[in-house]
Amino acid sequence: MDVKGWHIEKTVQRTLKALESNFFDAAFFSDRQTLVDKVMGFVKPKMKIGFGGSITVRSLGIVELLKDKNVEILDHWKQGLTKEEINEIRFRQLTCDLFLSSANAITEKGEIINVDGKGNRTNSTTYGPKKVIIIAGFNKIVPDINAGLERVKNIAAPMNAKRLNLSLPCAETGHCHDCKSEGRICRIISIMQMRPSETDVSVFLINEDLGL
Ligand code: SF4
Repeated sequence: MDVKGWHIEKTVQRTLKALESNFFDAAFFSDRQTLVDKVMGFVKPKMKIGFGGSITVRSLGIVELLKDKNVEILDHWKQGLTKEEINEIRFRQLTCDLFLSSANAITEKGEIINVDGKGNRTNSTTYGPKKVIIIAGFNKIVPDINAGLERVKNIAAPMNAKRLNLSLPCAETGHCHDCKSEGRICRIISIMQMRPSETDVSVFLINEDLGL
């Protein structure tokens, strides 16, 4: 018996149930293609579609798929943008039709935790866009908020700091020093304890270890 798979399934089922009890639309996908097809089902011509700073979402190839559709892609990670253009895209993500992001942690109690340096992701996932889809691998599931904050500070932020080659203490040691650095990347933490009352949020979990 694949006990690892069994354990993941049990944890995911518990998390889905908790997310639903917190009024999120929640679903689990056992493979990438089914998940991507589901996401693409929300895409309509002329939509403005925003992307949070998310390795998970980009690793699914959704940005590339959208290039063939008649939609406006608001992706501030696109190569060659000026600082002004990046800020303009972040600003426009706040009121887009569909916002796609991951989360830094999702608790088994059905809460969603995100950390941000600027606030475009924490804001766009909670209020503004007509539809928000949060996509996360099972590796983002943690028991509770404390474990989620621990994950944010000692796993997600240090790995992001290292990935971006930032001059931050966590990029050296791999754990948080609660620094006062000017370049600190974790300045805002959002915890959605329930689906924000005016925002349509779906949480799609996938049977993969994805993102940071
Ligand atoms: S507070 Fe500083 S050291 Fe801690 S995770 Fe954030 S950037 Fe890294």
